Amino acid sequence: MSVTEDRIRTSGGQTFDSLSPATGEVVGTFPVHDEAEVRRAVQHARKAAQWWGELGFDGRKVRLRAFAGVLTRRREELLALISLENGKPRVDAFIEHLLAIEHLDWAARNAHRIMKPRKVGGSMLLANVKPILEYQSLGVVGVIGPWNYPLFTPMGSIGYALAAGNAVVFKPSEFTPAVGVWLAEAFKEVVPEQPVFQVITGFGDTGAALCRAGVDKLAFTGSAPTGRKIMATCAETLTPVLLELGGKDAMLVDSDADIKAAAGAALWGACSNAGQTCIGIERVYVVDAVYDRFVAELTEAAKDLKAGGDDAVIGPMTMPKQLDIVREHVDEALDRGARAIIGGRESVRAPYIDPIILVDVPDDARVMREETFGPVLPVTRVRDLDEAIERANRTSYGLGAAVFAKKRGYEAARKMRSGMTSVNAVLAFAGFPSLPFGGVGESGFGRIHGADGLKEFTRAKSIARQRFATPAEMMSFDRPAWLPKVAAKLGELRYGRRGR
Ligand code: NAD
Repeated sequence: MSVTEDRIRTSGGQTFDSLSPATGEVVGTFPVHDEAEVRRAVQHARKAAQWWGELGFDGRKVRLRAFAGVLTRRREELLALISLENGKPRVDAFIEHLLAIEHLDWAARNAHRIMKPRKVGGSMLLANVKPILEYQSLGVVGVIGPWNYPLFTPMGSIGYALAAGNAVVFKPSEFTPAVGVWLAEAFKEVVPEQPVFQVITGFGDTGAALCRAGVDKLAFTGSAPTGRKIMATCAETLTPVLLELGGKDAMLVDSDADIKAAAGAALWGACSNAGQTCIGIERVYVVDAVYDRFVAELTEAAKDLKAGGDDAVIGPMTMPKQLDIVREHVDEALDRGARAIIGGRESVRAPYIDPIILVDVPDDARVMREETFGPVLPVTRVRDLDEAIERANRTSYGLGAAVFAKKRGYEAARKMRSGMTSVNAVLAFAGFPSLPFGGVGESGFGRIHGADGLKEFTRAKSIARQRFATPAEMMSFDRPAWLPKVAAKLGELRYGRRGR
């Protein structure tokens, strides 16, 4: 079987092989877990969640920081596995690993601060009652992940969900099950007592079974079409969902930008990880005054960049089907008058794709509207930064973005219809555990990372505790007749004169 035909081999429906995208070798054989097995895993997780909850914040912090230690000590083994199964060069796996550890450690250290009970603002009507807010664990969180960042991406949900006191059942992508199973095994080194973090393997049906298995929340990272299916399946049981979906991220380049830096960042943002990055740069809008210079710098930076080979910085495409999508996007753009200034149709040579830079691409071409997920970068000339913002925002997606500008960088970043924007950098927001990560529109909703991301795996618990009884109680049938009149008067004094 050719590597490009199908990276996954099933045998009798019971197990499947994960194959290396570069060599076709079998990385491992994994069960296709069925509905009953998934339910069992969730039941075990429920008991484990109770035990994990009883460890308390400090107990969990110690275990999770020890997990970060294991991941660091066994780093080379993990990086080799990620490279083998996903195809990415070691350095890309290394960046992913580095970020994953930072996030895990932050979540472990900050969970208590974010979730602990606190007194919140009082009420004039209930001056004798103390309002207390805390965030409690949900119980069992289901996580369904993609293959493109098989460690960093799911850990954005897994690490934060665990730190928030939940047990986790994780279904990795069928293209990277070995990394998922490795992670759960490594976790057992620090939490051998209970199945606090379990992995189930299989395809879409196994994922759908997890949606139906009674988890308290389902955190999904993957494509928008699958996100829709997940939401529909979770609706059957009113299981809440967090959706981290695809993107069509734009970079804007203003006339006062550092053009060389912008070109280098655009190239890396578009082509690292073979362009298979949800927050990868998929469009660039450059203002007229610096367009030619930008294109010249970009061409210079990209001219020797190729996928594959010894010391490759761009690996093979992980998923064979993606090669066809990239080819279709490039062919359509070229057929409709776009020009390739780097690469072209011949750059798609399975399982690799060399960088392709396009100019003069029609706005309604697929490569401008749909997620290409390959090392392809269309560059568009615009009048000024305002037009760049307007055209960049003309997308159904809204995950990340980048702006290269001196004077108006921050202003433009705020105007981008995206969950995250870097200024004079690309993808920088992903490196801050304190910054929430997520999108708008077809890029999904909800957040991972940061305090907002941690709270996604909790429920707010409100407690109103009476500190002393009052002789006249408004919320009682025994209230004296004068009390509503006094309260009305106080309300008029406080609010009645506003807006006159
Ligand atoms: P995908 O949607 O094909 O699959 C993702 C996961 O969903 C896999 O584990 C798959 O088995 C499972 N699945 C498929 N059908 C299912 C169903 N009906 N019910 C339940 N589970 C089902 O995505 P992919 O190709 O693995 O990943 C690439 C996509 O992920 C891209 O669109 C990329 O932009 C996106 N992504 C987003 C982020 C983010 O944080 N927003 C991060 C990484 C990747």
